[in-house]
Amino acid sequence: MELSFKDLHLSEEVLRAIEEMGFEEPSPIQAQTIPLMLEGVDLIGQAQTGTGKTAAFGIPIIERVLLKDEAVQALVLCPTRELCIQVAEEISRLAKFKRNVRVLPIYGGQPIERQIRTLKKGVQIVVGTPGRVIDHIERRTLKLGGVKTFVLDEADEMFDMGFREDIELVIGHLPETVQKTFYSATMAREIMDFATKYQDDPKIIRVVKKEMTVPKVDQFYYDLDSHMKPEILTRVLDIYNPNLTIVFCNTKKMVDELTEGLVDKGYFAEALHGDLKQTQRDQVMNKFRKSKVDVLVATDVAARGIDVDEVDMVINYDMPQDDEYYVHRIGRTARAGREGTAISFVSGREYYKLRDIQKYTKTKILRKELPTIHEIRRTQDIKHLDMLRDAIEKGEAKKLEHLVNVLLEEDRSPVDIASAALWLYAKEKGIGKHQELDYVDNDKVRPPRDNRRKLPFDKGGKWGYARIFLSVGRLDGISERHVLSAILNSTHAQKAEVGKIDIYDKYSFVEVKERVSKDAVQALNKSKIKGIEVSAELAKPRMAKPKKRWHSEPRRG
Ligand code: ADP
Repeated sequence: MELSFKDLHLSEEVLRAIEEMGFEEPSPIQAQTIPLMLEGVDLIGQAQTGTGKTAAFGIPIIERVLLKDEAVQALVLCPTRELCIQVAEEISRLAKFKRNVRVLPIYGGQPIERQIRTLKKGVQIVVGTPGRVIDHIERRTLKLGGVKTFVLDEADEMFDMGFREDIELVIGHLPETVQKTFYSATMAREIMDFATKYQDDPKIIRVVKKEMTVPKVDQFYYDLDSHMKPEILTRVLDIYNPNLTIVFCNTKKMVDELTEGLVDKGYFAEALHGDLKQTQRDQVMNKFRKSKVDVLVATDVAARGIDVDEVDMVINYDMPQDDEYYVHRIGRTARAGREGTAISFVSGREYYKLRDIQKYTKTKILRKELPTIHEIRRTQDIKHLDMLRDAIEKGEAKKLEHLVNVLLEEDRSPVDIASAALWLYAKEKGIGKHQELDYVDNDKVRPPRDNRRKLPFDKGGKWGYARIFLSVGRLDGISERHVLSAILNSTHAQKAEVGKIDIYDKYSFVEVKERVSKDAVQALNKSKIKGIEVSAELAKPRMAKPKKRWHSEPRRG
């Protein structure tokens, strides 16, 4: 698929935003649905998580908005609050250069008054959870008479979560002629029935996959928070010390940032992406072939057709947009009968992509523990010792014996002299590429400041509320609804006594009024959520600020 965003007849403003976001080419689902959505037809788009569905509907929505019109013109329904926020953010980024396009996420848990105020000012694109959208419809604070495009995102998940009736209620308030589009990872029977009932002769877009043979590559993955990726990347490079490595990112922007970060840290890294001229690309590839550059940071498009036999490691810094890309990527290593390793960095929602890739490639990709500082030190030690033995055996070091004698006469110990010499040599040769001080313990790797409030170690509850930790999360199929109903069913708590519910991948937090918190913990410990036994405990208060700054985030330009 060699289609570019320019071929999709998009406005200058949207193309500029896409460029700024660093997207190199449309993902398969985008290439197929954007033209159809621009025509205004109904459709069902099936593609796995992480394949770029948001931009697939976000771009046409933006292009179809009439700026003169202040009415709500597009409505997107998402199953969860997190997704609402994510989708609204992505659409806002895509609309950055379209002045006066306003996007609003509306979801439960946020004060409704604020949403009402913003809605009154005029918003053209609303992204909401079904419950809150209905709430606004009933209060008449959200009027849907001017909607031209309706999107049901993650339709299968919404049905699983029992939102069907809510969705029907919302659709009932839309104009007859509205364009209805459903996006889903699977095509369950229920969705097809629903489509027959509500859509008008929908086009069905399936991102079909070719059968592919998966190269014989040693594959494993790390489960990590995205802010740890740069640090872990440098550890991997130091420990495995691969000869030639290709690191794959999904965007040009990430390629540039990461390359800059690696170069700053002393790695011989170069970027390869579609913005480079052919001559520049040839130069980079030549250097890589001759091992003058040993880490190539690349996008999928740019790396297509790279045929360098000595690549012994491929790193999926971002999980690929498409399962086929994964196979292409790992096929860059283990060529010409050599061995090769492919490591995937999997964080948050990328886990779903990993799952799909395993299904698609019919291989099991095993999880490995994150490399620790110990391992790095051990690798460095082994290297130092080898070097020393080698030098002693070759006997060439004898030429410098007179220097040693001078130092011995100064009463310095042979141990000090030898360590100092070794240290200087290692530094010069860039062994370990940087000093040990640069490493941070795994448990001290912390996100940069602005992300911190989103992260689970901020455990402090709201005033008057206690925060309860639950051992189940999104990957168990848990949503806010499940948590809420578990509490209401197992305790005497009223709905109003339950506060914010935060669902993370593997665990969740829920705020409840202090008065009922002990009972709630006890009751939850005895209950099951979605059939899974949970363990619940009162969350500890906010942790002290970590002292060390996180070291390895690539510099932003
Ligand atoms: P889905 O909705 O299918 O789960 P998303 O729309 O959330 O997937 O996309 C996953 C990630 O890929 C997002 O970070 C998004 O910004 C990015 N992305 C989307 N389209 C492209 C593209 N054409 N090239 C590179 N990255 C993209």
